[in-house]
Amino acid sequence: MSTIDYIYRFDPNSTEDKYLPPDSDSARKALEDGNRVYASWIESCRNHDPSQPCPEFLLPWHGLALDSEHPPRQAPFAVVLGCADARAPIEMVFGQASNDLFVVRVAGNVLADVCVGSIEYALSALADSVKCVVVLGHLGCGAVTETVNAYLHPADYTVKIQSFGIRSIVEKIFTPVKLADDAIHRIWGPDAARHHSYHKSLIDVAVCVNAAQAALDIRMEVRRVGKRDLGVLYGVFNLVTHQVSMPANPHLPASDMKINLAVAPQGAASVNRLAERMAEILRPRARTTQRAGEKPRQESA
Ligand SMILES: [Zn+2]
Repeated sequence: MSTIDYIYRFDPNSTEDKYLPPDSDSARKALEDGNRVYASWIESCRNHDPSQPCPEFLLPWHGLALDSEHPPRQAPFAVVLGCADARAPIEMVFGQASNDLFVVRVAGNVLADVCVGSIEYALSALADSVKCVVVLGHLGCGAVTETVNAYLHPADYTVKIQSFGIRSIVEKIFTPVKLADDAIHRIWGPDAARHHSYHKSLIDVAVCVNAAQAALDIRMEVRRVGKRDLGVLYGVFNLVTHQVSMPANPHLPASDMKINLAVAPQGAASVNRLAERMAEILRPRARTTQRAGEKPRQESA
């Protein structure tokens, strides 16, 4: 493991204007490219050859942001609803600097009323610059894990969820957890819950469904306020590979090809299809370590 540098660079002689993606597709590409650079920068630190220069992640800081008399005009090109988890810093994850993203963070990236209000504000007051809205979940989400545990063992959680604040988050994630559980049972079979990977898989599927459901809700809100050309996207951040993808397969190694943001589901059926796709990805496979002449052993599902 080598030293790594994360650098914001202000160049007073630069004449370059702040880059603003002209449309939704360009905004999506800027976010995906930013995540590609961020993830590969961390990976290069893991595998760095000490005889080579230390890897740097260099972000330009636009000169207008340092004007001593006037504050810069707020001009983010994307609105991001993300989890409050300290391991998923939104600007870093997408390789962006100050004034690039309008970020709303809340545990479990749930779409609470005040979050909808913040997004509506951005779509109205910052309409000139905002080109897309993104929901970013992450694998290993504590809020989703707590909701899964409350769903599976409600008797153990009656004290914890008596807190109004905690309950308001858990209640919003309950539906995605139920959709994830139903999909796993459809794909794995009626004995799904008996498999040793069921609990972890239920959390992983629920994380994806939770992000998709929030994206669907935001999509309907965006249409309601008449912003039909605005892209609504979603993805899940992997805390190990530092890559954003959808669907998110926690078992695959990092790959630039995997980085992508998905377009928000069109409706409830699309969310269910995603849940089944994730359940299929995580479905226990036949063991490959059988003796010669022996039939492969199917793990119980
Ligand atoms: Zn989280």
